[in-house]
Amino acid sequence: MKSAEIRQKFLDFFASKGHQVVASSPLVPANDPTIMFTVAGMVQFKDCFLGKEKRSYTRAATSQKCLRAGGKHNDLENVGYTARHHTFFEMLGNFSFGDYFKRDAIAYAWEFLTSPAWLAIPAEKLMVTVYASDDEAYDIWHTVVGLPAERIVRIGDNKGAPYASDNFWTMGDTGPCGPCTEIFYDHGPSVAGGPPGSPDEDGDRYMEIWNNVFMQFNRDESGTLHDLPRPSVDTGMGLERISTVLQGVKSNYETDILAALVKAAARETGVAYSQDQPSLKVVADHIRACAFLVADGVLPSNEGRGYVLRRIIRRAVRHGYKLGQKGLFFHKLVADLAGVMGDAYPQLVDGRQRITDALKAEEEQFARTLDIGMALLEKSLEGGKTTLDGKTAFTLHSTYGFPIDLTADICRERNLALDMAGYERELAAEQERGRAAGSFKMTAGLAYDGEASCFHGYSETSHDATVIALYKGNEQ
Ligand code: ATP
Ligand code: MG
Ligand code: MG
Ligand code: MG
Repeated sequence: MKSAEIRQKFLDFFASKGHQVVASSPLVPANDPTIMFTVAGMVQFKDCFLGKEKRSYTRAATSQKCLRAGGKHNDLENVGYTARHHTFFEMLGNFSFGDYFKRDAIAYAWEFLTSPAWLAIPAEKLMVTVYASDDEAYDIWHTVVGLPAERIVRIGDNKGAPYASDNFWTMGDTGPCGPCTEIFYDHGPSVAGGPPGSPDEDGDRYMEIWNNVFMQFNRDESGTLHDLPRPSVDTGMGLERISTVLQGVKSNYETDILAALVKAAARETGVAYSQDQPSLKVVADHIRACAFLVADGVLPSNEGRGYVLRRIIRRAVRHGYKLGQKGLFFHKLVADLAGVMGDAYPQLVDGRQRITDALKAEEEQFARTLDIGMALLEKSLEGGKTTLDGKTAFTLHSTYGFPIDLTADICRERNLALDMAGYERELAAEQERGRAAGSFKMTAGLAYDGEASCFHGYSETSHDATVIALYKGNEQ
């Protein structure tokens, strides 16, 4: 079953259960300064859960564009390393605004997954988790659905603080939240990893496919939980993960849409197609995030969302470089993406040229300093050093436009330590120099300036305090 068909089936199923099908909202949340990006389907309905907004319906279903790069939900470091994480992904969700609650939510999820009329997944391949103290959810799974006790796991506050559990979902530091029940698919013993709650649960054998959140609370700035006006339901199922299950593969990157992009990445970087090459998967992932960000109005810059976009583009370009592609390639993948996702997202087709141009400009800019930056990095490691020193990391950042997470990515894949403390010292010292000079205006520093004409040389001090201030701001 193609991803497009699964997406449609999900919406059809919930429409048949009285849900209003609502369009995806943009990746940039409207009027919500508490989060940078849309990290889940519930984001556009936040005020409905809080009781601040009334709609003409009390049940909704969506296929929502999501981005998890930066902030509380950040999967950037997982991309290329796990079979199930992306920066950009599509979340299928059904929502109840004070309408149905636990019993119906669980029954709907189970019917959609296992009924021969819908996805027909064998029940014995599925297991679930519930929040440790949620006897109600446990009983519904056990007595109503009939799931045996050994396939229901209670998960408590396993993140070291009250309500910090894999089974207590929160949108951000504040906002709607509540206990949840999650559904996992067992990919079998050929995949590494243990069941949820076990020490090796982070493997991909038991892949979490669907989270059903019982929205009951609103968390305020002090961390206190307040009851929502009416208990509600918010669910999220990754389209890429459910496609993995239904297409009989073991990794999201082998499903129709992603595999096409991994192939396109191989073609444009001039290497053979392989699922064992993390860099190809990173590039395939990142083209989606970058293209959709530009489509939704974000452009590369030195602050906020634009800096997240800049970092993702530069990471992708660096992975292409690592595969041996020294020329421009990344922007060419926009055409492939429009080919595989344009039907579902016409904005990719309509905006194709604009998206391509924006990515190309950023790619060109970084291409000017990437090579020389890499040479500097190699030189600093001469003599078999196993730690990248903070001064070099800082120079890479300030002069050659290597965001620190990109440098960390290089260190991780080469098994090098990164002297973060040293890097931060350099950063602070530079900030101090900038302050002393009384200059907070950005004047130079190729890596931070859209105009190549402003580039004043590869000197370590060719950036200024604004850059650092921005950088600091971006890391929060
Ligand atoms: P995981 O534990 O695998 O990181 P999660 O618990 O962080 O997932 P939720 O916040 O519960 O995920 O999101 C709901 C659903 O969205 C998940 O069950 C999964 O199907 C999907 N999902 C979450 N994060 C990603 C991601 N980075 N890439 C693809 N799908 C994702
Ligand atoms: Mg996660
Ligand atoms: Mg999880
Ligand atoms: Mg989850």
